[in-house]
Amino acid sequence: MYKEALRPAWVEINLDNLRYNIRSIQEKVGEGTKVVGVVKADAYGHGSVQVAQVLREAGIQIFAVATLTEGITLREAGAEEDIICLGLTPDLYADTVAKYDIIPAFCSFENAKAFSEAGAELGKTVRGIIAVDTGMGRIGFQYDDVDNAAEQLLAAQDLPNFEIYGMFSHFCTADATNLDFTRMQQERYTSFYEGITGKGVQVPMKTLDNSAGIMRLPETYFDASRAGIILYGLYPSQEVDPADLSIKPVMSVKANIVHLKEVGEGFSCGYGRKFIAERPSKIATLNLGYADGYPRPYSPVGKVIVNGVVCPLAGNICMDQCMVDVTDVPDVELGDEVIIMGTDGKNTISADDIADATGTINYEITCAFGQRLPKVFV
Ligand code: PLP
Repeated sequence: MYKEALRPAWVEINLDNLRYNIRSIQEKVGEGTKVVGVVKADAYGHGSVQVAQVLREAGIQIFAVATLTEGITLREAGAEEDIICLGLTPDLYADTVAKYDIIPAFCSFENAKAFSEAGAELGKTVRGIIAVDTGMGRIGFQYDDVDNAAEQLLAAQDLPNFEIYGMFSHFCTADATNLDFTRMQQERYTSFYEGITGKGVQVPMKTLDNSAGIMRLPETYFDASRAGIILYGLYPSQEVDPADLSIKPVMSVKANIVHLKEVGEGFSCGYGRKFIAERPSKIATLNLGYADGYPRPYSPVGKVIVNGVVCPLAGNICMDQCMVDVTDVPDVELGDEVIIMGTDGKNTISADDIADATGTINYEITCAFGQRLPKVFV
């Protein structure tokens, strides 16, 4: 029972496994390439401040977030590393960018000008990272619009309080079986880079790949590789080959049995009465539900591990609680620890298992579990 959590349900973050993953990734990309620690979305639900501390101890000097508030959280916790904000930051927030020394993605001269002006107010130089759209279709200068981009970037680099930090783009299918589109994105990235630098734009740092790229495409490492999901010990898809990178899951989800009862045949439980006992049964209740990231669509097939026995959920997952059929667990007791996601060494329920059963990806599962449940770092 974890008392400090003030709740008999929690996310457990295994920092040794995180350290193991960092080492694996650093070995994979080699000494010539920096690893950017992608810690957006509270480090995919793992706790960005604590994850950043471990990354720092491992020598990682660049963090990537998605929003300004995520960057501010790191700064306020004492981070002195470079913090890239991968999402676009409207001019309105330029003063905050300058104040907290965030490195915003940008793809227009106007945006860079706003950052420069905000920098001037504080007597600082704001650094921005060029976003290039090579096929994701999300943000960035279009890869084939080199003349226009170069014109804007030349003007941006002449701004008094603005500096170009580097250039990034993002893969959209690097985790798929067919890598043709990814290779095309790489060619587009390189030709955009050559196009703008040929016209005099200075780009000190190139970063293109994500976890799937790190695992599969060494030719996309360039100066820095952005590692997200693999840091947390999960593979970006089932199409990548686990043999390409050894990693261990960092997040587990656990709870204690808070209520336990013996019921007769015909007993029903949960919204919609989706569980009806077909035999005399034991039903355990846990203090965790879909508001904690436990997906409601998992209810019909969901399983947990209780004292070494894999047990089915009983009925629909509620907002804050769920029930488990523990009839087959010998000597089950109130307070027993239940593994919702994780392993007891013999049985495993992975983020991928829950994602597969609910039509989503492991990324969404860890992000969701990380939101409300207390985190315990071990
Ligand atoms: N770079 C950018 C721009 C991203 O949006 C993301 C994640 O979505 C990443 C890197 C990291 O991706 P992954 O978690 O697949 O490594």
